[in-house]
Amino acid sequence: MLDYVASIRQRPVWQPVPEPIANRFRVGLPTEPTELSNVYDSFSEDILPYAVGNSHPGFMGWVHGGGNVVGMLAEMLAAGLNSNLGGRDHVPIAVEQQVVQWMSELFGFPPASSGLFVTGSSIANFIAILVARTAAIGVQVRERGMRGQVERLIAYASTDAHGCIAKALEMSGIGSENLRQIAVDSHHRIRIDQLEHFIASDRAAGNTPFCVIGNAGTVDTGAIDDLSGLADVCKREELWFHVDGACGALGMMSAELAPKFKGIERADSLALDFHKWAQIPYDAGFVLIRDPQLQQATFAAPAKYLRRAQRGLAAGSPWPCDFGPDLSRNFKALKVWFTLKVYGTRRLGELMVTSCQLARYLERQIQAHPELELMAPVSLNIVCFRYRCERQVDEVNSEIVIAIQESGVAAPSSTEIDGQVAIRAALFNHRTTQLEVDTLLEATLRFGRQLKLIGEPR
Ligand SMILES: *Cc1c(COP(=O)(O)O)cnc(C)c1O
Repeated sequence: MLDYVASIRQRPVWQPVPEPIANRFRVGLPTEPTELSNVYDSFSEDILPYAVGNSHPGFMGWVHGGGNVVGMLAEMLAAGLNSNLGGRDHVPIAVEQQVVQWMSELFGFPPASSGLFVTGSSIANFIAILVARTAAIGVQVRERGMRGQVERLIAYASTDAHGCIAKALEMSGIGSENLRQIAVDSHHRIRIDQLEHFIASDRAAGNTPFCVIGNAGTVDTGAIDDLSGLADVCKREELWFHVDGACGALGMMSAELAPKFKGIERADSLALDFHKWAQIPYDAGFVLIRDPQLQQATFAAPAKYLRRAQRGLAAGSPWPCDFGPDLSRNFKALKVWFTLKVYGTRRLGELMVTSCQLARYLERQIQAHPELELMAPVSLNIVCFRYRCERQVDEVNSEIVIAIQESGVAAPSSTEIDGQVAIRAALFNHRTTQLEVDTLLEATLRFGRQLKLIGEPR
């Protein structure tokens, strides 16, 4: 795998999976043993070449981190230990708590804040919504459910919030109908005047506003809401202030980027992903909660087979399983601990600044080129643009993205900005340089010129 990473530039970013290869993963249960070396050969030939490609510097789709080899080695150590971090008295939990303490420090949260590793920000946001629900209506909801609930809880987020926020409200029983989607300004930041307007009209209608979700980097454009402004509203209105910092919040590691996140230190809860901008191998989502008692009250449950003790293996209460839905948990903290120790946050922060500079470079090239059009202001490291053409501009740009992906030279994704299809380059990989950005531009122009002539999708 070290060779794979070292020579990754010689590979296509991604390639379509040939049918015969896909069919090798539709066979019956292996009742008899196979030589390890044969299974490893299958991995090398049938799996490795057909991965999604996010380790490759040309990968710019969605929000995928590039990973790093220190994290990769730490994963092997963690797998060797085979620790279960649901609870009990052992140092792996102290390592997780160390990372919780580091995050409290980084984000200016109180030292006693609680935190938990989870798969990703989808679950981190969900946990935060559940704790916010406890803060609003108490722990009885755990037994009674939302059915007997007379108050109609309402949450607020911008139209650009990630889809997992609505899902979190659905899973919490509050319902996505009770998420108010607030309009954004020309920089894709939540309009605070609109937010205040909706809170007031909800109160007038007898509803119960309970939570505002701010974005520290939206998934589409990287926009950062006015977090101080949102914190002011939440303080005045006595609402829970949650920040979805999945892709952007760890920009706090950079002294240069940190001012953009002003106000994040006032959040009640924060979701973030180490597996994105911080280059930790998947998966490493994380939730940080200002009030540990509330988080514990939301999840802790007695069970006779999880009895605690003052000494012995069952000591060390409270346990991580008291702070979230998972009982068995792997040792995600180790790869984060290793990576942060080996590189230090300053160096990681510098990598993030570099990706923002590359995004600015891409923005300048787009603005200087008559065939290209910028679709949204560049706030961090995400650039949305498109190829200009007279007819069927959405179809042509959708096809450009697919053609670039299939060519293997780069892998952008697509999204919609104000209802129009955009090519989206999210520069999260620390291996990406100006060379890959130039390759993306060159491929966009080449395929754009071809597809425009056809006038419609192939
Ligand atoms: C990626 C992302 C999520 C979802 O996080 P997962 O780790 O994929 O579960 C939520 N919000 C934003 C802004 C994201 O970028």
